[in-house]
Amino acid sequence: MPGITERLLYRVAKRWIAGYNLEDAILDAQHTNEKKMAAIVNRLGEHTPDRKLIEEYVEEYLKLMDSMHEANVIGAISVKPSQLGLTAEKSLFSENLDRILDKAKETKRSVWVDMENSPYTENTIQVYREHFNSYQDLGLCLQANLRRTRSDLENLLGIGSMIRLVKGAYPESADVAFKKKTEVDQNYLGLLRILFENGSRFVVGTHDDKLIAQAKVLNKERSVDFEFEFLKGIRDDLKDKLVDEGYKVGEYIPYGPEWYNYSKRRLRERKRNILLLMRSMTG
Ligand SMILES: Cc1cc2nc3c(=O)[nH]c(=O)nc-3n(C[C@H](O)[C@H](O)[C@H](O)COP(=O)(O)OP(=O)(O)OC[C@H]3O[C@@H](n4cnc5c(N)ncnc54)[C@H](O)[C@@H]3O)c2cc1C
Repeated sequence: MPGITERLLYRVAKRWIAGYNLEDAILDAQHTNEKKMAAIVNRLGEHTPDRKLIEEYVEEYLKLMDSMHEANVIGAISVKPSQLGLTAEKSLFSENLDRILDKAKETKRSVWVDMENSPYTENTIQVYREHFNSYQDLGLCLQANLRRTRSDLENLLGIGSMIRLVKGAYPESADVAFKKKTEVDQNYLGLLRILFENGSRFVVGTHDDKLIAQAKVLNKERSVDFEFEFLKGIRDDLKDKLVDEGYKVGEYIPYGPEWYNYSKRRLRERKRNILLLMRSMTG
């Protein structure tokens, strides 16, 4: 039985996650599809060297893909490298991604690899590249706050990669990352231009009105196959508007008992969310 603090925190976190288990995720994904958006489902969990737990995550993703197939869910899954073995050993992540891709091929499902904090970046890209050769519906997330991303993006577009561009959710040091919001936003815009010039299948993953407006302008100049994607529980008004305007839109839906770290990131992103948390504790 969870304690009172956990229950109160969960009440706030619930807006950002589908719930504790796979059934919650499928229901949420179907709800997202009803709103004419694709569902990108992620089983929460990260940074574990525990091989038994890693195996459980892999098994869960295999089950998730079967369930999405059976329920005719439109969308993809998104996995975290450090959840599938990268914290323990690079080869373990690679083997587990292989198993997930076998199921993805069987159920004709796209798979996205989330990008985590910078110590994982190089190995994540290497493993991604190894597997992209054999499965082209494998996408990779890149973060605009990292200084290295422009060069990564150019290299990955060179092999035809499917890219999701985000600002980056992890605290990073100035030697590897842009620290000022204005610098991150400016870099994001530069990377967006590269995507619209040279990309063919990509995701604009931001809730930022200005960058979304820029993406629309760039799309007028060169119409390509791209999708706006948002996190569950954030900017629902904007999601509906973009769907009405005829854009492809997707919603990233995490689930699982490990919701605490994920929710901390969402709280950190916006002061108003802390108020929301306090209100739920007092009211
Ligand atoms: C589909 C998707 C997948 C992602 N995958 C990854 C990943 O693999 N790796 C990674 O590091 N990061 C990932 N992220 C998170 C991303 O890096 C940012 O941390 C997050 O999207 C907030 O940045 P922003 O682009 O929305 O811009 P911001 O400048 O942070 O926000 C712009 C506006 O969006 C709204 N907003 C933003 N965040 C919140 C919030 N928490 N609550 C309420 N309103 C908010 C506000 O109106 C704000 O003014 C993903 C994001 C999306 C949308």
